[in-house]
Amino acid sequence: MILRVCALYPELMNIYADRGNLLMLERRCAWRGIEWQLHESTLGEALRDEHDLYYIGGGQDADQRRCARDLLEHKAAALHAAASRGAVVLGVCGGYQLLGHSYELGAEEIPGIGLLDVRTVRSDGPRLIGNVVVQSDEGVIAGFENHAGHTQLASSQQPLGRVLRGHGNDGRSGLEGARRANVIGTYVHGPLLPKNSWLCDWLTARALGVESQALAPLDDSLERAAHAGALRAAGVS
Ligand code: GLN
Repeated sequence: MILRVCALYPELMNIYADRGNLLMLERRCAWRGIEWQLHESTLGEALRDEHDLYYIGGGQDADQRRCARDLLEHKAAALHAAASRGAVVLGVCGGYQLLGHSYELGAEEIPGIGLLDVRTVRSDGPRLIGNVVVQSDEGVIAGFENHAGHTQLASSQQPLGRVLRGHGNDGRSGLEGARRANVIGTYVHGPLLPKNSWLCDWLTARALGVESQALAPLDDSLERAAHAGALRAAGVS
């Protein structure tokens, strides 16, 4: 088996150690004898639809602005094609916002690629910061969030999960993230995958097109401790 991963703008969209998500995917593939191929796609590259998992991390507003233009011009078509054939697309925080329709900052609107039916508006109020715990259909996700954007889901858009602790999409709806088949957006940093190894495996299995049980079990004692620590930090035991 080979996992072909494409990291979008890894040098620009990488705050709160979001690059750790790639390391986690890579290590677990290595431990299982799954071949790993990483392609880093940045500004100016015309993206090709030839990967199993596409990943975009969080970023500052200024970097998001640069990436947004490039995404639309050089990458949106390939990402839409990839999503419709079932490739995994994972966006964290700023990356999640860019997977939606738009990110509005006052009079300015940064366009997204519309893979998720969500819109984000930057709020002048306090940033949504802190430890966060989310109940998704597949399991509990724990981590950290820090965003000024408030994200609204269209009525038919499925969230990733419900907020057990923290703010989530907008601090009010009780919803966190968004999901459409294998396209997933979330505000959870931490980084996300090292603190939620089950999610790393779930995404890997979806990207490879196999059942999660087809992945060899690993000694997850450290990973379980990291997950428990993130839950405790959020006040969930
Ligand atoms: N710049 C975006 C916001 O503040 C995303 C921040 C992030 O990726 N942590 O809402």
